[in-house]
Amino acid sequence: VKGPIGLLALQGDFEMHRQAFARAGAETRPVRRPAELAACAGLVIPGGESTTLSRLIDRAGLREPLRQFGRERPILGTCAGLIMLARRLEGEAPEHGVRTLELLDCEVRRNGYGRQIDSFHADVSLAGLAEAGGPEGDGGALAGPLFRGVFIRAPRIVGVGPGVEIVAALGDEPVGVREGRVIAFTFHPELTPDPRLHAVFTRMAGGA
Ligand code: GLN
Repeated sequence: VKGPIGLLALQGDFEMHRQAFARAGAETRPVRRPAELAACAGLVIPGGESTTLSRLIDRAGLREPLRQFGRERPILGTCAGLIMLARRLEGEAPEHGVRTLELLDCEVRRNGYGRQIDSFHADVSLAGLAEAGGPEGDGGALAGPLFRGVFIRAPRIVGVGPGVEIVAALGDEPVGVREGRVIAFTFHPELTPDPRLHAVFTRMAGGA
């Protein structure tokens, strides 16, 4: 599918993603209704608050359309967006809060860094993501290109299924994962000027 990258615009920091894709040279459009998905080459589920996001997805009638979209076209989730994509949330009964879309085979702990350090910046390794190595796939940068990760009440990935690649790591902990067309990060790449991750997703979505 050729077309813009859809930004799920129900809640959260979709506007910052719009600006980040603009820096990466990609066109975007907001998505608030199921019919708006049809034209999109890919979709971003932004950071925000996953309990609210989950409720608003149901209210907009977007749950099944999003699940269907994720079976066919690329989806990027950041922070609360990663939570929404996960197959399982650790220790949470779905009837009490977030119902995830179950498009990414991993288990996630919400607010996984606790209150003491609920927000921080740290250099993340993208060694698992060769495409992020540089503008021309610069071999020299592939050994361990770092990305400035902004973590805000971030979730933690506590388990991944066999089909899931680790594409970003903080120490030995996964902070970015990819399973086929679905890619997600626990941090906020839209809040740093580095366009590499938005460029990677733009390529996943066919160039947009
Ligand atoms: N803590 C939020 C949640 O559980 C996610 C925070 C974020 O997206 N920055 O939904």
